[in-house]
Amino acid sequence: MKLTELFAQNKLSLSFEVFPPKTDSVFESVKHAVEEIAKLHPSFMSVTYGAGGGTSRYTLEIAKDIKQNYNVPSLAHLTCVSSTRETVRQKIAEIRDAGIENVMALRGDLPSDMTGEAPVYRHAVDLIRDIRESGADFCIGGACYPEIHPESQNQKEDIRYLKEKVDAGCSFLTTQMFFDNNLLYNFLYKIREAGITVPVIPGIMPITNANQIERAIKLSGSFMPQRFKSLVDKFGSSPAAMKQAGIAYATDQIIDLYANGILNVHVYSMNKPDVAEKIQSNLSDILES
Ligand code: FAD
Repeated sequence: MKLTELFAQNKLSLSFEVFPPKTDSVFESVKHAVEEIAKLHPSFMSVTYGAGGGTSRYTLEIAKDIKQNYNVPSLAHLTCVSSTRETVRQKIAEIRDAGIENVMALRGDLPSDMTGEAPVYRHAVDLIRDIRESGADFCIGGACYPEIHPESQNQKEDIRYLKEKVDAGCSFLTTQMFFDNNLLYNFLYKIREAGITVPVIPGIMPITNANQIERAIKLSGSFMPQRFKSLVDKFGSSPAAMKQAGIAYATDQIIDLYANGILNVHVYSMNKPDVAEKIQSNLSDILES
């Protein structure tokens, strides 16, 4: 199923993100976690590509498993900044041949050891154009940043380039994590005003342990509301309490999004079936409404 068909159903939906194993030795345990999440039958699952040190070669294998064995639509991520045109072409063909219909087209983070030579793909828009030119009939997604991308000078510029990505062929956008929904509402207002009309899927990260916070903020530059900081101050040193509080906070964010007209929410479930299950069961009646 193409995700555009899902979004056109005009129903509340919840989806989950997983990432491939960092090393071959943990492949089986990651696969098991992914399958436990797939058994929850979310509206779709996304599989990252090399993010956070995950091995990109397993992305397709995991995306295929989700689709073929659990009948859950899958979204395979693909990055381009460290790739040649040949590698990208080959990846596009492999994704198509595996029967995956949805691709998240990303630039990827610039390698810290990048030397003088400019990358072949400078921005995600170059990848989106190549995917469209390949003739493969994918539903293409792109990333967006309610609190602007860390490399951007200002939001106006960031939104101008975002519009370019959409015009090049993105059918939907998924957001970077955020912890204050007002930032999302503000961003939506601005991008709609700039003429971006495709569905925007908010990405929610449940923070379930105190160690995760520093990394999450470093990666995303997200603003931490006082309400969230108080929760970490109070429960951060008790793993079970922090997990419960983090799940409750993410659930509360999602309910507020649904209540304010958002239909599709994506959860950065980080290969944690128990977290995915808890959030989904917290929302069971809401998702049926
Ligand atoms: P781009 O859209 O290229 O934007 C990057 C920067 O360049 C922005 O500042 C933008 O304003 C600017 N820009 C864009 N186009 C132009 C242009 N034409 N001229 C000048 N400037 C321009 N990383 C992974 O490695 N694997 C993953 O699976 C992964 N999944 C992600 C999923 C989501 C939903 C999000 C939000 C991020 C994900 N990332 C992933 C991280 C992502 O790769 C990084 O945030 C990366 O730094 C930017 O990727 P992008 O596709 O947004 O880039």
